[in-house]
Amino acid sequence: MHYISTRGNAAQYSFSEILLGGLADDGGLYLPKNYPQINDTELSLWRNLSYPKLACAVLAKFAPEIPLADLKLITEKTYSSAIFCHSRHGDAAQITPLERLEPGLYLQALSNGPTLAFKDLAMQLLGNLFEYALDKQKGELNIVGATSGDTGSAAEYAMRSKHGIRIFMLSPYNKMSAFQTAQMFSLSDNNIFNIAVEGVFDDCQDLVKAISNDLTFKKRQKIGTVNSINWARIVAQVVYYFKGYFSVTNNNAEKVSFTVPSGNFGNICAGHIARMMGLPIDRLVVATNENDVLDEFFKTGKYRVRPSEQTYHTSSPSMDISKASNFERFVFDLIGRDSQRLAALFAKVEITGGFDLSGGPNSDGDEFKRIAEFGFTSGKSLHADRLETIRRAHDKYGVIVDTHTADGIKVALDVITTTRNNTVPMIVLETALASKFSHTIREALGYDAPRPNAFEHIESLPQHYVVMPANVDQIKTYIAQRTGL
Ligand SMILES: *Cc1c(COP(=O)(O)O)cnc(C)c1O
Repeated sequence: MHYISTRGNAAQYSFSEILLGGLADDGGLYLPKNYPQINDTELSLWRNLSYPKLACAVLAKFAPEIPLADLKLITEKTYSSAIFCHSRHGDAAQITPLERLEPGLYLQALSNGPTLAFKDLAMQLLGNLFEYALDKQKGELNIVGATSGDTGSAAEYAMRSKHGIRIFMLSPYNKMSAFQTAQMFSLSDNNIFNIAVEGVFDDCQDLVKAISNDLTFKKRQKIGTVNSINWARIVAQVVYYFKGYFSVTNNNAEKVSFTVPSGNFGNICAGHIARMMGLPIDRLVVATNENDVLDEFFKTGKYRVRPSEQTYHTSSPSMDISKASNFERFVFDLIGRDSQRLAALFAKVEITGGFDLSGGPNSDGDEFKRIAEFGFTSGKSLHADRLETIRRAHDKYGVIVDTHTADGIKVALDVITTTRNNTVPMIVLETALASKFSHTIREALGYDAPRPNAFEHIESLPQHYVVMPANVDQIKTYIAQRTGL
């Protein structure tokens, strides 16, 4: 199993070699040279595996050089019902329990981990993989990340007990919910550094990119990343597409579709990879909020990044992204893995703010016509839709869903209604628990979503953070002072 960069650097790496890194040196993203394939016999064998065993089997395909016994220990330790214990419904031992909302429509809960959002599923694995790798090489690692809320807390909760690891987390100052802010800033571990940046999430992401692109600094400071471009995170997310598929089907001839509340395109990218491996996925539905760059692309073939000052702050804030960092992985496959062309397209994004694959006059290509082959379709959901969907889910299904999941349900229902003779089950991924976004739940229902006991009064704990301008040099200095490297 070899990994290559989307932008054409000829070098090939193993899973372990790219585990601790982020972007490839040429600015591209890593992908397997060939996707491992899953045949019918294997799919049948995997059908009855517990979540940790399934995770082990999937990881073994992508990281064949790690001894199976080690992978087994790592996945058992990660996917335990003691860690994924905040299940609102269903059986916690399933790790991602599934619930039927109405005939043909299911909710798969990815929100039972320590920070109540789907990012825990990948991040908890990453914490254990990092510790395993660093122990082997007696190394140390300084993680620099950007978060609009959920990534940062998931990363900090995954890394807080790990030796050899420091974590510097950039977040947009005053832009996260009180609950998210409290989750991150209340951690007092001395390997955790919260940096509140005067700007929006995209500024934070640009700062992390600038730091990663300074190869000298990156090397000297032993910088790593946990952003959604990290390949191991994507692999971890592939697992629950298999789990969801097995939960609603009885045999491998059946298909399912998934609707995924999307921001950075990391979650749904894992669905794309599961599909490329041979998992019988019919459709992958990208659900966006008011920040509809992806919906526009999947409807027109035109990718038009919005400037960061035009990013809307919405009631599904973890999807408030105008430039989806994992999108490049999908485009690479869409254009037939032509890395030269891919590099040119994304160079064009930097200069003109986008590209056009619609096949129309002056377009950059006509691959939009292949979108359906990849199963992709999309839809968007606005604040009023979100409120209505939260009410509907409460009244009709008896569940309180979070705002991101509401976007998913809204778009899934739109797709179901506009598809005639559709018998394929639709699974909506529940990406967070409602109590993380209680303000909007109150707006929709008139009262707060119930909060797991462990999170009572979290907002009143002392907070630990520094406020800094969006200035890369100042942030580099701050990091170097803390690492002493
Ligand atoms: C991160 C996040 C998303 C978006 O996922 P991407 O992988 O960035 O597309 C959606 N919902 C919630 C609750 C999230 O935390």
